[in-house]
Amino acid sequence: MTEEPRGALYADGPPARSRAASGPAKPEPSRTGSSKPDSSDSRASGAGSPRAAAEGAEGQEGRSPSRVRPSGLAEAVDAVAGAAAQRRTMLFEGAGTALEWGAPVAEPALVVETSGLDRLISHAPEDWTVGVEAGMPLARLQKLLAPAGQWLPVDPPTADGGATLGGLLAGGDAGPRRLKYGGLADLVIGATLVLPNGTVARTGGDVIKNVAGYDLAKLMSGSLGAFGLVARLNLRVHPLPAATVTVALPVDDAAQALDAARAVMRSPLEPVAVEWDGRELLVRFQGTEESAAARGRLAPEVPGLAGARVLDADAEQAAWRRHLGLLRGEEGETVLRAATHPARLPGLARRLNELTRETGVEARLLSGVAQGLHTAVLRGGDAAGHAECLTAWRETVHQAGGSVTLRRRREGVDDLAAAWGRAPSATPVLRSLKRQFDPDDICAPGRFAPWF
Ligand SMILES: Cc1cc2nc3c(=O)[nH]c(=O)nc-3n(C[C@H](O)[C@H](O)[C@H](O)COP(=O)(O)OP(=O)(O)OC[C@H]3O[C@@H](n4cnc5c(N)ncnc54)[C@H](O)[C@@H]3O)c2cc1C
Repeated sequence: MTEEPRGALYADGPPARSRAASGPAKPEPSRTGSSKPDSSDSRASGAGSPRAAAEGAEGQEGRSPSRVRPSGLAEAVDAVAGAAAQRRTMLFEGAGTALEWGAPVAEPALVVETSGLDRLISHAPEDWTVGVEAGMPLARLQKLLAPAGQWLPVDPPTADGGATLGGLLAGGDAGPRRLKYGGLADLVIGATLVLPNGTVARTGGDVIKNVAGYDLAKLMSGSLGAFGLVARLNLRVHPLPAATVTVALPVDDAAQALDAARAVMRSPLEPVAVEWDGRELLVRFQGTEESAAARGRLAPEVPGLAGARVLDADAEQAAWRRHLGLLRGEEGETVLRAATHPARLPGLARRLNELTRETGVEARLLSGVAQGLHTAVLRGGDAAGHAECLTAWRETVHQAGGSVTLRRRREGVDDLAAAWGRAPSATPVLRSLKRQFDPDDICAPGRFAPWF
């Protein structure tokens, strides 16, 4: 299956002149600090054109950023190279569902929207691979793959919100089924990147048997747009499971949730997701109709899962939807994502409880228990309480050898707490990579402040 590319490929000749960006005007990204939509003039000019450059200069003097929406690799190269030549700062924007992750980006001169980079480049069902432009929404890719009985096994909470593949890779995250399939970075076979100076870099290959060399796609995982633009991805796909079955066990104690998760992971039932929302443990199985049903039936016999009930199809869907909604958080909440050894969960839960009493905020701890991926959601109280709670809990995670990303925060928290905590040991390496890739600090400036 192949969709005809709409624009010239950079590899096939010199970059085409940027065309007028089309599509509906989007709201401004929240962290750029601007609220004014771009003028149609700025959209109509390619980023590399003298006119766009002039507008960029204005943008950096405090006016709202100009926006460009390339509709192919060549135009993306044009946009990035044009901005680099003028040392204009840039922010890459997919669906805009995770633009506030990390530290706030200083207002960029240019926003590069990836929604025009949305084509299917190739799909080889017999090779289990698909090639896409990185602005394609995950939900659309799943629709394209489904007739072949295939899917890209990532299930993030914002798929409904249009989350794009490039944004998912740059966000460095994965949904509950990461337990079985790994994160999106693990499914990347190859990638085409536009580095901050406009150079096109190809990494990996087109087939599952990979080539040697630096794995730049891994650098892009979690890069939050600070190391360049992900323009295209070759991805490994998997068979769509015929059936899934989920069992739910009420459990509000973190240690008990951890014991149950360990027991089911040791069992021969091979769960594909084990998630705890602070009140209930959800364990998901998949396979053929018969095998998924049998796993669900046998689950309550696993020590620690006695009393688990099998959800019917509607209840299963509702349970996962609710869970993903909780992970995403809501306006006014502060959301922290932490990664530790799974065994740390009870200690982290205890500390968060203590902090709620000390700071006057309410908190809920969710956890991909078997993977040690925890999400703390703070609500209520005031900004000072949120800032105090997040800073202290993050320090506990660091002491436990883990890492934390601040995703969402209630208004006012940025003035009171740093977005990143203790610098990880890899910081000097990241800093030097950033210097090499982006010496003028034009891509998402400030995203990883104060680390680099
Ligand atoms: C609070 C919250 C919790 C979430 N929790 C989870 C979770 O637990 N599991 C999960 O799987 N998903 C989760 N997600 C969803 C998912 O990880 C992100 O929504 C997804 O990464 C965003 O895709 P997007 O297209 O909306 O990206 P955007 O929001 O547009 O961009 C996200 C970041 O990537 C950069 N970026 C975007 N496109 C590109 C590109 N092509 N090249 C380089 N950089 C780019 C942006 O500059 C920005 O820094 C969560 C989302 C939110 C808001």
